[in-house]
Amino acid sequence: GDIQTTAASSVLELLSVDVAMVTVFDDRRHILPPTVADIAAVPLKAPALSRAVKPLVASIQPSQPLAISRLRTEMPKIARATGLQSLLGVPIVLRDGQIGIIWAGYRSERDWQAREISLLSIFANQLSQTIARARLLHIEQERRQVADTLRETAQMFTRLRTVEGIYELIFDQLERVLDFDTASLMLRRDDRVFVIGGRGFAPDAQITDLSFALSDDANLRNVVETKRPMVLDDAQLHPNFVVVPETEHIHGWIAAPLLVDDDVIGLLCVDSKNVGAYDEEAANITFALASQAAQALRNARLYAEVTQLNADLEQRVLERTAELQEEQDRLRAVHAITLELTATLELQPTLNRALELAADAVDARRGSIMLRETNSLDLICRAVLNSEGLAETTDIRMDFGQSGGLVGWVMQSGDAVCIPDVRTDPRWHQDESRAGDVRSVIAAPLLMQDGPLGVLMLSSPRPDFFREAQVQLLTTIANEIAIVLHNATLYNIISELANEKGTAEAQQREENSKNQAILSSLGEGVIVLDEEQQVVLFNPAAEMMLGIPSSYITGQSLEYLLEFPDPSGNAIRAGQMYEGINQGLVALVEQSKNYNRMLSLPSPGQTIAMNFAPWVGPRGATFGSVVVLRDVTREIESDRAKRDFISSVSHELRTPLTSIKGYVDLLLLGAAGPVAESQLSFLNVVKNNANRLMDLINDILEIGRIDSDKIQLTFEPVDIREIFTDVLQTLRVQIDRKAMIASVEVADDVPEVTADMRRMTQVVLNLASNAVKYTFPEGRFMMRSFLNPAGMLQIDVEDSGVGISVEDQRNLFRRFQRFDNPLRDEAGGTGLGLSIAKSFVELHGGEMWVTSEPGQGSTFSFIIPVTQPELVDSD
Ligand code: ADP
Repeated sequence: GDIQTTAASSVLELLSVDVAMVTVFDDRRHILPPTVADIAAVPLKAPALSRAVKPLVASIQPSQPLAISRLRTEMPKIARATGLQSLLGVPIVLRDGQIGIIWAGYRSERDWQAREISLLSIFANQLSQTIARARLLHIEQERRQVADTLRETAQMFTRLRTVEGIYELIFDQLERVLDFDTASLMLRRDDRVFVIGGRGFAPDAQITDLSFALSDDANLRNVVETKRPMVLDDAQLHPNFVVVPETEHIHGWIAAPLLVDDDVIGLLCVDSKNVGAYDEEAANITFALASQAAQALRNARLYAEVTQLNADLEQRVLERTAELQEEQDRLRAVHAITLELTATLELQPTLNRALELAADAVDARRGSIMLRETNSLDLICRAVLNSEGLAETTDIRMDFGQSGGLVGWVMQSGDAVCIPDVRTDPRWHQDESRAGDVRSVIAAPLLMQDGPLGVLMLSSPRPDFFREAQVQLLTTIANEIAIVLHNATLYNIISELANEKGTAEAQQREENSKNQAILSSLGEGVIVLDEEQQVVLFNPAAEMMLGIPSSYITGQSLEYLLEFPDPSGNAIRAGQMYEGINQGLVALVEQSKNYNRMLSLPSPGQTIAMNFAPWVGPRGATFGSVVVLRDVTREIESDRAKRDFISSVSHELRTPLTSIKGYVDLLLLGAAGPVAESQLSFLNVVKNNANRLMDLINDILEIGRIDSDKIQLTFEPVDIREIFTDVLQTLRVQIDRKAMIASVEVADDVPEVTADMRRMTQVVLNLASNAVKYTFPEGRFMMRSFLNPAGMLQIDVEDSGVGISVEDQRNLFRRFQRFDNPLRDEAGGTGLGLSIAKSFVELHGGEMWVTSEPGQGSTFSFIIPVTQPELVDSD
């Protein structure tokens, strides 16, 4: 515009014309508003002049300036319209095209000279250069503005967070870079695009209701598929253009894809009423804007998602906080309940308080706690809330019919329940609560590991009184109550046990003092030792007997005896005491049964019978050993005196008896003259009885020797076969008299043994003579000898005689024992033989036993070692 004005005034001056005008064409040779310079006071109106000269435009070619000298005659119309008399028009040519015309006019007729024409032509030429430059500048400026707009848009987009804001911005920016009548933004979902915003449409156009199927709209589909913008010069003429009421005005048209990561998320359409309004460049600008919008849209979407996410999170945080608050309240309630409940361990107060607290926690005024009876499994109502909301102790057996009711259900399922209206719940049993008008109920089981202890139930006469959220609270409280109940029950058991234990301890103490009294007054000495041989008890009798004070040895090891300062100066005594007791203890452990032994002590001479027994506690545990001491010195002495007396008497008897026997024999031999038949039988009676008396005396003397350990065995090699022969020889008369069958059996491997020949013979003779004596005539008896599996010499003497009852077998080897049997009187005897025989066998280190059955016969057996090594070097 400025260039045109300057140009017009320059022409006015240069050519001294009245009027100058510059008209410029646009791209399509439309004449743009002209600029006029006029020297007149009332200048020509540019539009009027432009309109007037319009018909001349076509006749002015680049090479042909138009020069009219007499307008009035040649073109009267123009002359009339403009008041000009002469007109000169020179084309403005830029490169190959005419871009405008520069006019000069006079209000008088004038013959245009060649100089004027060429001057204007030169000027026009210069003007064209200037315009070209200006246009370039303008394009440059426009481009810069587009670039600026795009950059600015990009920046703004990045700040925009709402989708709506983005539409507005897109349209705003679009307005800055392109002329359009309407524009619309569409978003694509699969095969459809939806119009989500528009600009320039009539307010009632409702374009955001529009959507197009891509399959129906080939143009839009083309843009989506090619991902390139598309320009139409005249959409209405295009066969594919979809015309709806809102698109009827559209001629010039651009559609650009909204591309995000190669994905077409929508379209931006720019519409113009003008045919050919847009070119490729406009399309590219739209595309660039659309791309930025797409990016922004995606960001906005992401942002929206993130925002939504944030909002969700925030919401959830809020909800959780509320939950936590509730949880905290619940915990606080539970904590308070626990605190209060654990204050006492008594069952009933605990139950009552628990019920009250639970009711408080859910605002209930009614409720009860029912507990299962341990043995019957019946439910007993233990506590009920009264009208003041206080718990009362009750003891009501509950019966909810066959189904068990709601309480039965809770017990069985182990679940808590909240029932908004019992009238609509089939589990509810009419009599389930004592109050008739119960409408809503909340109940929880009192759960322990091994099943529910009972049920805590709270109720209300109003329906929907309890909230589902309170179920959790009640469950927690019920669990607490269950634990406390469990503890209370446990406590009851423990306190009962403790009472029992107290009684037991009192009894124990009493028992102990009794035992103490008994032990103190006991005539027997008692020493109790623990497993480490520490003396635990040493009673007064033991003190007296051993001459050791209890205070010295109690609490000490038994070995401490060795250090006892013996007042008599004879240290051997305490030493022997220790030795004797210690050996007894060792034997006790080895034999693991009660054990007896004698203890002989010197200065003063004492014989003490010691009885060792394990100290056995309850359940068979061994704590140590008990030694019972009995001072048998006196008994031993009197026994010895008795034995001495008997043996000296026996000795004294033997001498006269020997002479009696001798003289009877002499008389029988007729040394004192003939003996009559009747005298002979008398003398034989005397002889037999003298023999028996002699046997008795010999036996008694032998016993005496055995008892006083005066037997000296004389070992020598002994052949058992010889003994058997000897014995048979001795018994020949009796065997024959009874017509008995006697036999002998000696195994080939039986060796000579080391033994006392005389004593062995005596043993075998005793057994064999018993076998003959206690067997009926014509019976059998047998003597057998062999080596037993242990390598000892065994001798059996077997008979088919009267036998011995099991009862009698037990006392068989005791002195003066003679048993009832049919041959007893006929056999005669002292009852000492077996006891002496057994002693002899034992002196040889052997054993003797019997097997017998009454009426069937007996077998007496004994074993002795083949050699006597340990006695070889004895005195
Ligand atoms: P005595 O034979 O002198 O009576 P013993 O000590 O030899 O004394 O025997 C004790 C008692 O054992 C006998 O009185 C007798 O009752 C019983 N006895 C011994 N040997 C036999 C036997 N072989 N058969 C049955 N009883 C016997």
